[in-house]
Amino acid sequence: LLAAHGLEKSFGTNRVLDGVDLEVRRGDVLVLIGPSGSGKTTVLRCLNGLETPDAGVVSFDGGPRVDFAQKVSKADRTALRDRSAMVFQHHNLFPHLTVLQNVIEGPVQAHGVPKAEAVARAERLLARVGLADKRDAYPSELSGGQQQRVGIVRALALEPQLLLFDEPTSALDPELVGEVLTVLRELANEGWTMVIVTHELGFARQVADEVLFFDGGVIVERGAPAQLFTAPQKERTRRFLDRLL
Ligand code: ATP
Repeated sequence: LLAAHGLEKSFGTNRVLDGVDLEVRRGDVLVLIGPSGSGKTTVLRCLNGLETPDAGVVSFDGGPRVDFAQKVSKADRTALRDRSAMVFQHHNLFPHLTVLQNVIEGPVQAHGVPKAEAVARAERLLARVGLADKRDAYPSELSGGQQQRVGIVRALALEPQLLLFDEPTSALDPELVGEVLTVLRELANEGWTMVIVTHELGFARQVADEVLFFDGGVIVERGAPAQLFTAPQKERTRRFLDRLL
């Protein structure tokens, strides 16, 4: 579905990505792990055009294909952005809009979906994550886990080909993490293509088709979770896992 080759990004003298290659097949779940500051978030942002890499190519099957070494047109950037939807660490819901209004905002404003259709889609998706009765609530009336589930529904409502998750549970109280991971597991089982940055290694092991270990702006090691978590080949991977497991 998606391939990224040779992604490079520096902020000033800080080289954050130093030649990152990855591929995501349709229906696969790719999990990115690694220490803080290793470039995981920046990779996600490059994949959907929120960040502009200094070099590298991001291409989707059937287009767009964006070469960041060239001048990138606005149309290319929009095409890239429309392929994926991102769920952030903090849900970023609009506080002055209800749950339903938050969910339909993107489809109606950005994609021109008729409002009645967007509402029907939103209601269906909210029911799926157990939040049908919260459609008219404001974000401040929800728990953190419920807010994050709305954040996921908002991404799904855009009907992207690819879902990107940036540490979707790390801002939650521990007892709320499970309900969000359950939703992610269900999405994986339904065949959604996802790239997930997470520190939840048990979860990664369950859902990932491939795990990429980042350190210092490069992918140090990649592999199936059973292999990477139990028999890491690289010393850096071993040290990272030893600290977390
Ligand atoms: P974390 O788990 O803490 O989110 P990460 O692996 O996702 O870490 P990134 O968020 O990609 O890492 O950040 C990598 C580096 O890039 C960090 O050193 C960060 O300070 C720097 N960085 C990220 N965004 C910017 C920016 N807009 N301006 C300057 N520096 C940035």
